[in-house]
Amino acid sequence: DRAVTAIDRLTVVVPDFPSAGIMFRDLTPVFADASGFRAVVDAIAASFAGTFDAVAGVEARGFLLAAAVGYATGTGVVTIRKAGKLPRAVHRESYDLEYGQAALEIHQSDLPAGSRVLVLDDVLATGGTLVAACALLDKAGATVVGCGVVLELGGLGGREKLAGRTVHALEIVA
Ligand code: 5GP
Repeated sequence: DRAVTAIDRLTVVVPDFPSAGIMFRDLTPVFADASGFRAVVDAIAASFAGTFDAVAGVEARGFLLAAAVGYATGTGVVTIRKAGKLPRAVHRESYDLEYGQAALEIHQSDLPAGSRVLVLDDVLATGGTLVAACALLDKAGATVVGCGVVLELGGLGGREKLAGRTVHALEIVA
């Protein structure tokens, strides 16, 4: 499978980033590679073909995927942003990080009610980010049809935290 081959060949594992003990999977070389980027975008679009009419991307790497999948499938793109970036009325959802808290926001009126939305991010780890993103779309009156990621870090409980949601990862690593 072209997407998995590209992910395996191009992902760079960075020890101790952003803090000691973390093995960070850097996917930017996959996105930077013309055929790798096309392969991951096409694979995500194919996984959810016909199920969605808008794509939401989680800041910031999710934006790259959402923009490309939206363009490729003829659907609109919605930004789920870090708190304080969006200029109009927002819904906000706080979530726990390893140390402290963060919040994501979505404009209240970017999506028509009942929109079927695919949520995209680059990596699923503990699941906190995608749980918050899905909760925002629920608040906005959208229907989340699924969550798509390039890479799932298994064993961190992300999939369990997203129980009841459709989650598709192009690759799962231990
Ligand atoms: P979670 O909320 O599932 O614990 O973490 C997922 C979020 O953190 C995603 O937005 C993702 O971009 C980022 N993230 C966590 N670990 C990694 C990693 O190893 N590589 C990359 N590229 N992003 C990560």
